[in-house]
Amino acid sequence: MKTILEIKNLHVHFPINIGTVRAVQGVDLELRQGEVMGLVGESGCGKSTLGFSILRLLRPPGEIVEGEILYHGRDLVRMEEKELLSLRGNNISMIFQDPLTSLNPLFRIDEQFIETIKTHDPQISKQEAFKKAAQVLESLGISPERLLEYPHQMSGGMRQRIMIGMALVLDPDLLIADEPTTSLDVIVEAQFLDLLNELRRQYDLTILLITHNLGIVAQLADRVTVMYGGTIAETGKAESIFGNPLHPYTQGLLASIPNIKLDQPELHTMEGSPPDLVAPPPGCVFHPRCPRAMDICKKERPKAFGKDDRIVRCWLYG
Ligand code: SF4
Repeated sequence: MKTILEIKNLHVHFPINIGTVRAVQGVDLELRQGEVMGLVGESGCGKSTLGFSILRLLRPPGEIVEGEILYHGRDLVRMEEKELLSLRGNNISMIFQDPLTSLNPLFRIDEQFIETIKTHDPQISKQEAFKKAAQVLESLGISPERLLEYPHQMSGGMRQRIMIGMALVLDPDLLIADEPTTSLDVIVEAQFLDLLNELRRQYDLTILLITHNLGIVAQLADRVTVMYGGTIAETGKAESIFGNPLHPYTQGLLASIPNIKLDQPELHTMEGSPPDLVAPPPGCVFHPRCPRAMDICKKERPKAFGKDDRIVRCWLYG
């Protein structure tokens, strides 16, 4: 499968008054055409920062200090803002966890669609833009009449669908979905996941699905990347990661999820807490919590080991 996005040695810093938060530390990641990549990890592990870095939408004082983000071979880190502006939406779109923060409550849905379309194609007429918006909504199973409503007239699930429509109306090939189901109840979440799966085929989308919810990753992702403390712990096919996790952090993370098929008197909890990213531990960032840590783990950052599709950053596999 063709690679459409390649992140190489990415470092993202947030300078604050007590030091520098090293939110992303030397991350490598590859997205292949048509796949769903699940990016998982605990809160604060750097997964959302990584997603926002791709479109250079980091909130100040966040900055990319090193590395490359190659989209079809073009480096987004060094791209001029004007070129990047045209790429956002046209080629790469993003949906967020709370659609209310992305939809303007003062404007009708059709007005917001038309503005998005006309920003990227100023020549298009309002009627044509409306027609385009109506077609996208129909593909999402929403009556075009709802274009005439305001965001507050819709349910949370409907607003999330509208957000997807906005993200797809310019026909991007990469969709970054940051915790897209957090504000949805379980039933609407299931419908939303089915929809995402259908759209991926219909629009030939590549999806980066950022979430702390391993259940939805298990349902949707082809491959999974596990992040911990601003670094990648493990990447591989979803069935390999869930069936045979190799990295001790991934093992701990999966063991802490309830499984109704297993007789679990109590859930496993990982000792310790996530690292302080202002002063991350030397060597492997997971070593203070790792039950299998060795001497080398406290001194040297683990290299990427593996074969075929599996990559593990852990000295146990060196
Ligand atoms: Fe544990 Fe060492 Fe592997 Fe890190 S490198 S996960 S500390 S065994």
